[in-house]
Amino acid sequence: MVFILNPDVKQEKIDEFICGWEAKGFSTILSVGTEHTAVCLIGNTAQVDLEHIVHTTDIVAYGKRITEQYKAVNRTVRESTVVEAGGAVFGGGRFTVIAGPCSVEGREQILEVARGVKGSGASALRGGAFKPRTAPYAFQGMQAEGLSMLRLARAETGLPIVSEIMNQTQIELFEDVDIVQVGARNMQNFDLLKAVGALKKPVLLKRGLASTIEELLMSAEYIVSAGNGQVILCERGIRTFETMTRNTLDLSAVVLLKQKSHLPVIADPSHAAGIRSLVAPLAKAILAIGADGLMVEVHNDPAKALCDGAQSLDLQQFAGLMVDLRARAGIEGKLMC
Ligand code: PEP
Ligand code: MN
Repeated sequence: MVFILNPDVKQEKIDEFICGWEAKGFSTILSVGTEHTAVCLIGNTAQVDLEHIVHTTDIVAYGKRITEQYKAVNRTVRESTVVEAGGAVFGGGRFTVIAGPCSVEGREQILEVARGVKGSGASALRGGAFKPRTAPYAFQGMQAEGLSMLRLARAETGLPIVSEIMNQTQIELFEDVDIVQVGARNMQNFDLLKAVGALKKPVLLKRGLASTIEELLMSAEYIVSAGNGQVILCERGIRTFETMTRNTLDLSAVVLLKQKSHLPVIADPSHAAGIRSLVAPLAKAILAIGADGLMVEVHNDPAKALCDGAQSLDLQQFAGLMVDLRARAGIEGKLMC
């Protein structure tokens, strides 16, 4: 159940309202949005008389029952969330591009890619330092050293950095990473979700390989209900019977996520396709269906990449894609930033 509060209600009144419900055994989530402030009630609300509360409590404008299991990320609670990270903004009618290599492989590599993608207009630099690889013999990432190289690239280009955390023991290492990525394989690592829920920084939550849309929303609910409302959802392809692509990009998930949740939603055409030639067409589709942005893998020399070279654009291909996206963003009425 969610109560939408009247505008300009004093904080003491809100605290009093919340304490009243908590004393009755409910948990609450306070959501302060640009349009309104809402108090979400978690617990068995079957016996709560919604009409009575609205009529007898002077701070409540109206109330609604939320039948879905996800409450804090539900669009009923607020219109839309805008997430800001080191100058990059996700949501609110923008189309924001994160670009960079699958993994940080060395100082020169990450600096060259960072300069290139910055020059083409990317808003954030990605780069895996800790890599979740299927084979234990495959390159596992440069780890803490990789994070240091990302920091160097940020210092030179001004681009905020995005990198994947693999478990909660790494939290301290990610202290000054601008956006902490929770990867597909960890989407239901609930201890990790709780840990990033305690952070005061944006989290990029990728959909699991075989997770439903509702499961993704429930994972986001873990983070937001733990106190961190800065979550960006990312569709990255799901495993289907198809074998000619690495995964199947679920475009309807992007649309549905935006309808069901107030969180910004981006998509990753690189891991969805696994094939370089599909990345640009899918990126354009992602823009056309109303996503808030995309994350794309770009390498200075894809043929030599230590990870995911086959799906990586080179710097020139990325530059071409950005020109194309910018023209199309204008037509879609999106601000490309
Ligand atoms: C990645 O973005 O580098 C990555 C490993 O993606 P995913 O978790 O979607 O497989
Ligand atoms: Mn990758």
